[in-house]
Amino acid sequence: MKYLFGPVHSRRFGRSLGIDLLPKKICTMNCIYCECGETEVCTDAVFEYVPTNDVIEELAQYLSTKPMLDAVTFAGSGEPTLHSGIGTIINFLKTSFPEYRVVVLTNGSLLWRDEVRRAILQADVIVPNLDAVSHHVMQKINRPCNGLIAEKIIEGLVKLRKEFSKTIILEVFIVPGINDHLDELERIREAALLIHPDCVQLNTIDRPPAVEGIEQANCVLLERVKNFFSPLCVEIIGSAKDFHTQEKPVEFEHVLAIIKRRPSTKEDIINGLGIHPKEAEKILDELLRKGIIDRKKGVRGEFYSLR
Ligand code: SF4
Repeated sequence: MKYLFGPVHSRRFGRSLGIDLLPKKICTMNCIYCECGETEVCTDAVFEYVPTNDVIEELAQYLSTKPMLDAVTFAGSGEPTLHSGIGTIINFLKTSFPEYRVVVLTNGSLLWRDEVRRAILQADVIVPNLDAVSHHVMQKINRPCNGLIAEKIIEGLVKLRKEFSKTIILEVFIVPGINDHLDELERIREAALLIHPDCVQLNTIDRPPAVEGIEQANCVLLERVKNFFSPLCVEIIGSAKDFHTQEKPVEFEHVLAIIKRRPSTKEDIINGLGIHPKEAEKILDELLRKGIIDRKKGVRGEFYSLR
């Protein structure tokens, strides 16, 4: 599979098939916490970065086997709304495989453009990010492309809420020492009240970030932020949900497709692919032995990443 990966075990969406519409790594931002590493091309140019028809063909082939999934999620190596074919692909999914929930993870940076919002309106769940409102905090945490400002992002999210009646989850990534002070939290809270999402989810580092040395927010801090955001509905992203059992044998390429997109622990592989721990161990050992992947310590244990 060239454009699909997983299914991965998502902390929020359960067993989720990933769709990656961008070559590594093209984004409108270069967030310090990004689990895909540093952005190589920081751009806001919407373009057909990979052939839309090839993605649709791969989806048709994979989904026609009726895999057990909780969601099909646009995620991966950058900002998915940069791809000009995302609307066509969502339309294909909702027409040909309406039984699958379609989730779009986006940094929200392009949603002030009417055509970009229109492209994702057929999705079931949209998860935009808003980690900062002040210019200097956004520069520190998101490091966006030139010209991208929080006011524009908030304007796009408010318009999205008016046009999209399904679920919007506003994600706020908390990085201690950068966006956890009261002034900034108050600004984010005010913006969230304007945007009116169904829920705010607080996230923190779970995998090795793009910039070394940034800290994970602990439970006390996340609880404090959660209380501060009242009366909004706020969730702290919790631990993994149950997963279905993998019905087909797992190949090396399935494990590699996950590791290629984001550093993963053995448990991520086990849960994502629904395989036995011994099987995961065997494949990871073999990939290590062949020098294809590396192992290094992270906040949740040992992470495997591409060498
Ligand atoms: S976290 Fe998302 S928005 Fe930020 S650099 Fe990574 S892919 Fe882009």
